[in-house]
Amino acid sequence: MKVCKFGGSSVSDAGQILKVVDIITGDPARRLVVVSAPGKRFKSDEKVTDMLICCAQRVLDGESVADDIAAVVDRFELIRADLDLDRKLVDHVKEELLRRLDAPVGNKAGFMDSIKALGEEFSARFCAAVFEKRGFPARYVDPKDAGMLLSSEFGNARLLKESYELLREHLEPLCAESIVIFPGFFGYTRDGAVATFPRGGSDITGAILAAALKAEVYENFTDMNSVCPIDPRIVPEVNCGISAMTYREMRELSYSGFGIFHDEAVMPAVKAEVPINIRNTNNPDDPGTMIVPTRKTIPGRVIGIATSPGFGTLFVSKYLMNREVGFVARLLSMFAEEGISFELIPAGIDDVSVIVRDKFFQEPARSKIIARVKKELEADEVTYEPGLAIIMVVGEGMRTTVGSCLRVVKTLTGTNINIEMMNQGASEISMMFGVRENRLADAARALYKEFFEERK
Ligand code: ASP
Repeated sequence: MKVCKFGGSSVSDAGQILKVVDIITGDPARRLVVVSAPGKRFKSDEKVTDMLICCAQRVLDGESVADDIAAVVDRFELIRADLDLDRKLVDHVKEELLRRLDAPVGNKAGFMDSIKALGEEFSARFCAAVFEKRGFPARYVDPKDAGMLLSSEFGNARLLKESYELLREHLEPLCAESIVIFPGFFGYTRDGAVATFPRGGSDITGAILAAALKAEVYENFTDMNSVCPIDPRIVPEVNCGISAMTYREMRELSYSGFGIFHDEAVMPAVKAEVPINIRNTNNPDDPGTMIVPTRKTIPGRVIGIATSPGFGTLFVSKYLMNREVGFVARLLSMFAEEGISFELIPAGIDDVSVIVRDKFFQEPARSKIIARVKKELEADEVTYEPGLAIIMVVGEGMRTTVGSCLRVVKTLTGTNINIEMMNQGASEISMMFGVRENRLADAARALYKEFFEERK
């Protein structure tokens, strides 16, 4: 059995929802469908979730929400009319939205979640009605009835462990009877309050259900054919997709802002070893990208290159640092005390660099740490330089091959790009290079040419 999740663009209007129906009914193994709230239909459009957040915020600010309510209702009325669905569906949208907006606020984040979650709830009810209308038995399942129990960290909730068993018990028989449409993004606390995952959290719902039901695959439908080996916003000429990668490769690549869904979001599927298949609602015949526990690798083959600007280096130098036990530990504890996480610590004999995300290393913490390093660690030199970009070259195939690093270094030096930092993880499936931000695009293009263009 397959669990399929459709993102906001896949359910943004009547035409998109009909594509979902065709995809699901085209394969009898697709029994459980997780949907997001309707997303953008065009670039300047608004996501329903954003409209709902705005609505809830206005109530919290004591402002009038009549226009916002009308806009949400209109969005669903358009879908209803285009698909000739029962008017009761839109009546429910109006009534439920009003009911929740009128409820006593109590916990503000909890109130926000109760409104925010409605996009998914309505979306799933509408989708179930479309299946039924077209003659395919389908049912909407409420996360409360199914046992989707979450922590009460509103807006950032986590699944409670006992949910897996509850979900399996409830959903297995239902999936045997009909197609199940399940709203993504939210569940309920033990006290019965609505709680949502972080934004984009329908991916998490899909992964949880795929794990609970031990699905043969978790199909995640978006609006692109497959995962690109390098960011197409930086290298527009990229025209090949990744057909298969391992969980570890996905993790390494998504670390520096690679355009896959958030790796943490799919952790439940990874833990249960359910393969993930990224596919395109608008081009369902494309096999997409498979993300699997292990795969056959070609020696030396790079699977993807992630690029990310926004880093900085705190450089610390002290003569005979190598003889001073605990120097780096004391340095890092200063970061911990300021609540700043570091990314990497490349070290030499008399020097060490702490690589941080620049946006997290801001004043006044920055000056405070620099002053402490000078005073308490008696460093000879302490400087901070922002503007560093990280390039991650990833591939399981690099583990068994000599010379992958040389190829990257040759390509970058051949493009006259200075490598400021290099690091290879112990797993040997990724190499990290630091270059100046203003040379990142040139570096990405050159590496794409070197590692991917010749494969076409
Ligand atoms: N609708 C929610 C959001 O926009 C969740 C999701 O689409 O995954 O963040």
